[in-house]
Amino acid sequence: MLPVVSIVGRPNVGKSTIFNRLIGSRKAIVDDEYGVTRDRHYGESFWNGRRFNVIDTGGYLPDATDVVVEGIREQVHIAIAESDVILFVVDTEGGITSLDKAVAELLRKQDKPVLLVPNKADNDERTLNATEFYELGFEELYPISAVNGRGTGDLLDELVSRL
Ligand code: GDP
Ligand code: MG
Repeated sequence: MLPVVSIVGRPNVGKSTIFNRLIGSRKAIVDDEYGVTRDRHYGESFWNGRRFNVIDTGGYLPDATDVVVEGIREQVHIAIAESDVILFVVDTEGGITSLDKAVAELLRKQDKPVLLVPNKADNDERTLNATEFYELGFEELYPISAVNGRGTGDLLDELVSRL
């Protein structure tokens, strides 16, 4: 069994874009047997000679806030149970939201390694702004741009060192 990396976070922060960058041209497996809130995509990735499976969570959450919160909670609990490392994605464009804080609280209460990933850090300014996410209570953060690849090498170096 390959180690498992889950990507969690509120809708629209770029989880699926990160997932697609990590699996590249390899094909994702879609598992929707548990229904919409548990819909997950699985794919294989590698970096520095280490192979691992990546899970993209929460693809099709309905657009009602309480349902989103419940769906994310459920995804985070599953991710905690079955992952070796969790990527907690936030958005440097949108800033910190109450949903980010709710996810952070769930993730801080457990022992799996969590890498806080402020995404959409497409340029220097956004990368500097990413420091606001220290407020979420994690020691390190790894700003990236899933679109242009900025920062992804450093994130992946750290990720495989935790597998
Ligand atoms: P998800 O809901 O968390 O899976 O988010 P998606 O991957 O679907 O992305 C949501 C939106 O953010 C899309 O319009 C993406 O193109 C955009 N996005 C994702 N990553 C980046 C990034 O690194 N930079 C910018 N500028 N936009 C991004
Ligand atoms: Mg998605």
